[in-house]
Amino acid sequence: MNAPGTPENPLRVAIVGSGPAGFYAAGHLLKVKDHVVQVDMYDRLPTPWGLVRGGVAPDHPNIKSVSRVYEKTAQHPEFRFYGNVDFGSDVGHDDLTSHYHVVIYAVGAQTDKQMGIPGEDLPGSWAATEFVAWYNGHPDYCDLEFDLSSERAVVIGNGNVATDVTRMLALTREELAATDVADHALDVLAESGVRELVVLGRRGPAQAAFTNPELLELGEMTDADVFVDPADVELDPPSREWLEGEGSMTAKKNVEILTEYSARKPTGKPRRIILRFLVSPVEIVGDGKVEAIKICRNELHRDDSGALRARQTDDTETIPTGLVFRSIGYKGVPLPGVPFDERRCTIPNDRGRIVDPERDAPITGEYAVGWIKRGPTGIIGTNKKDAQETVDLVLEDLAQGRLLEPQRPDRDAVEELLRERRPDHVTYAGWEAIDRRERERGEPHGRPRVKFARMEELLEAAKDADLVK
Ligand code: NAP
Repeated sequence: MNAPGTPENPLRVAIVGSGPAGFYAAGHLLKVKDHVVQVDMYDRLPTPWGLVRGGVAPDHPNIKSVSRVYEKTAQHPEFRFYGNVDFGSDVGHDDLTSHYHVVIYAVGAQTDKQMGIPGEDLPGSWAATEFVAWYNGHPDYCDLEFDLSSERAVVIGNGNVATDVTRMLALTREELAATDVADHALDVLAESGVRELVVLGRRGPAQAAFTNPELLELGEMTDADVFVDPADVELDPPSREWLEGEGSMTAKKNVEILTEYSARKPTGKPRRIILRFLVSPVEIVGDGKVEAIKICRNELHRDDSGALRARQTDDTETIPTGLVFRSIGYKGVPLPGVPFDERRCTIPNDRGRIVDPERDAPITGEYAVGWIKRGPTGIIGTNKKDAQETVDLVLEDLAQGRLLEPQRPDRDAVEELLRERRPDHVTYAGWEAIDRRERERGEPHGRPRVKFARMEELLEAAKDADLVK
């Protein structure tokens, strides 16, 4: 048979994961000129968009609107979506390599990093990722029960997820009610007893991972005043030197914003957001539930590579609280049949080509994009360039004849396999039916949508696709 990419033998690509990285990869592939490319995208959920649906905060509708770009990709006649199909149990690695010339893993980072401190698993201590998935209506998390009666909540970490969690705990009922926050979370959040949110950064203001707009939002909350201790924005000499030298524009602006916050006087809003720096949690304390968090003061030092790192001191303090959110980053998990780098929690790869660690050589026809390729960093748009890098390698390998030679490359073979393995898989038309129903539910309340959060509801709504066909 001739090389794939022709009308008689299209280049067949499977993408596992339908978040931004997967969709950018699909978009780039379907725009390739001179080759006929067909993309089948799999997701274990009946809904696409990954963290755009399940991660981006409900009060950030503009960020969510990036899904319009993915909708356009999905309209391409050579694109198919197979939701509610779990890689590993419904279809496996060998199923994909026997049906496709190319397999791209775009599964993101599906769990959270652990702090490794005593008390981390006490009731009342949550991974921010769990809270985020819960308020966004992810079916795996919709039954979690958050007790928000504690007057003080502590958020650990200085990234954008920490700002999302902090904002969500400080929005007014009216603000929440205008969003697509999951219905089960709306009342719990609106009736929360949290009055003080303490956000802990282990390094200084110059090293915070917040982006500027997200940090600015914390100072513009309707219901919360923001507090920064002026002593905390006095930069230590290594930070000042770094900021004045190689420091990024984002870091410079963050320090400027935090300095302005430190000069603010409280305006008497009902909630307080307190941003603290150079402190690390050493223990979450409590008898059967969180009652306090013990933190220590840090100082910065340069490690062997020259990076500024936090070093703990003996200066400790205990903050009473019933609620802790650990927002210290997401973490990738291994996929059955696919190599995994346990240290970096990514799939070992060279610019996107998956590498067999034993042979230290690329695995034919298998690629990675997004967070499972590079780790959980960057904003949504970062994945566009990342996906382009991987797709360029796919095309290079296509030109060199270095792709898989599947036994059953025809499109119908996949449908047959799925009918057998997962008869209730959800097609793109099924997702469109879910989307339509959710929007209709939101309309009378002036909300963008009211999400279905339970698996049964999602699958039921997807069935409407058959009615409109
Ligand atoms: P992140 O940006 O990597 O931030 C993680 C934070 O946790 C850092 O401040 C880090 O401090 C701290 N940390 C790590 N280990 C710690 C420990 N053991 N003890 C105390 N602190 C610790 O991660 P993220 O907030 O989960 O966000 C993930 C990515 O998604 C980021 O690229 C983010 O920008 C993006 N995102 C964007 C948006 C948006 O654009 N609106 C919203 C949400 C997320 P160190 O710096 O000292 O390591």
